[in-house]
Amino acid sequence: MIYRNGEILMEEIKSFEDLSLSSAVMKGISSLGFETPMPIQAKAIPIALEGKDIFGQAQTGTGKTAAFAIPILENIQPSGGIQSLIICPTRELAVQVSKEITRLSSAMNITVVPVYGGQSIAHQIRILKKKPEVVVGTPGRLLDHLNRKTLKLNTTSILVLDEADEMLDMGFLEDIQKIIEATPEDRQTMMFSATLPKQVTTLAKKFMKDPASVHIEKTGATVSLTEQRYYEVNSRQKVESLCRLLDVEYPEGGIIFCRTKQGTADLAKELLERGYTVDALHGDLSQRERDIAMNRFRTGASELLVATDVAARGLDISSVSHVINFDIPQDPDTYVHRIGRTGRAGKEGTAITLVTPREIKQLRFIENGIKKKISRSDIPTLSDAVEVRKEQLIRNIEQTLSEGVGDYKDTASRLLEDYDSIDLLSAALKIVDKDGRDIETAEIKSAKPEWIKLSIPVGRAHGLYPKKIVNEITKKSNLTPAQVGDIEIYDKDCYVEVPVDASDKVSSIFRNYKTKGSRRPKHPQGRSKKQSERRHK
Ligand code: AMP
Repeated sequence: MIYRNGEILMEEIKSFEDLSLSSAVMKGISSLGFETPMPIQAKAIPIALEGKDIFGQAQTGTGKTAAFAIPILENIQPSGGIQSLIICPTRELAVQVSKEITRLSSAMNITVVPVYGGQSIAHQIRILKKKPEVVVGTPGRLLDHLNRKTLKLNTTSILVLDEADEMLDMGFLEDIQKIIEATPEDRQTMMFSATLPKQVTTLAKKFMKDPASVHIEKTGATVSLTEQRYYEVNSRQKVESLCRLLDVEYPEGGIIFCRTKQGTADLAKELLERGYTVDALHGDLSQRERDIAMNRFRTGASELLVATDVAARGLDISSVSHVINFDIPQDPDTYVHRIGRTGRAGKEGTAITLVTPREIKQLRFIENGIKKKISRSDIPTLSDAVEVRKEQLIRNIEQTLSEGVGDYKDTASRLLEDYDSIDLLSAALKIVDKDGRDIETAEIKSAKPEWIKLSIPVGRAHGLYPKKIVNEITKKSNLTPAQVGDIEIYDKDCYVEVPVDASDKVSSIFRNYKTKGSRRPKHPQGRSKKQSERRHK
């Protein structure tokens, strides 16, 4: 292995055998069915086994849990007290990490305990008294135990901060610092984060000793199996467009991402009203409500989960066929993180992003960040949706036939004595179809025309002001006030946003604009005073 500046320059680890692990850990690895190390494991495990601190940039789905869990287990002494602490942002992630370490340690005599808010503290106190070798917890509850002195970290030799960026985003900085300070200074520290905002690097500098950085490319295995498409939609018809897509795509489990808690709750309500089975997941829910929503989704009782980024952290869901960005993500990292929830573990997945004309720039920014073009598709037509529905009916019938229809044969024979078989089957299909949810039938207008900012060579000196510009345009064209966008007005000229296909008409209105009664410009340079108006489109 060759290192430079703490980064591995040459990769040599090809198999778990190359890592010289103990037979107990090797048994755990094969019981999980892992055959070859994932890149982050090949990079991080040898460094961690040397006892060095690690600063890893990796997303969920890259195999980072085993990357830190394997070195932890290699170093663990049964009955040696709490030797490893893993801090995670959410209860789901803590449970998931704890499960994975438990399974990896199935051939070892050690205990791994998850500790998180929402679970009975008395129960946790009892378990912590027995000194489990590994504790996985969320910051708030860990600090609670430290304050109660029901958790002592003086024997901790390996500390892991998982999804550090998320924990800091959620405001856990102070709690985390207090927890770290309760561990011995000579511990080994590993920190993983999907993104590297300043807060994260500052935390790393403060609490890590010359860490080796391990970076896993974002467009790695997880994302490569995911088909990525975007649809340009009108902001006013976003929900209808989404429903049309759902009708055609038939997700076998889909997560729909929204930007805000309120947006999440509103969209979930609209989808419910339209007959989809859906649950919302956002920060305002109690732990119990979260659990119910997660369970319904996991068991397939609800087909869709509408979530904010923060609420969806650490979800351990393996069967999501679709990730839909109802609101376009803020940055490439969030995009990759969101879509990493589909196409997992060798399964194919679909990632769909809805983009309004004004957000096209944001989409290009994401494409640049992920170094990949996302392909454009058109919202399916109503007849596409009807066609898909019919095919789905045929598949349902074929499935039912394969399961056997014995109980209904008598009734069918009786009906066939009196009616034509085609009429009968058509009636039965109609009944079945009625039970399904309604297809979205709204006419979905193309997101075009896009808007254009027109430069118009008349301004305040010619007696114009924003309201007057709107009046002039609506009086002399068929545009409505809502179709006149932002207006910036200067002394000698102005800029007006209008739909592209109305641009010639609007230009011509002002080309012949009478300057009768106009004032002399107060600011001869023209641009010194700007008056602008933001209008709703
Ligand atoms: P993580 O990023 O830790 O959430 O891991 C993502 C998924 O990959 C989990 O389901 C792991 O069980 C699985 N995984 C981790 N390491 C390997 C490996 N070496 N081979 C196959 N699957 C793995």
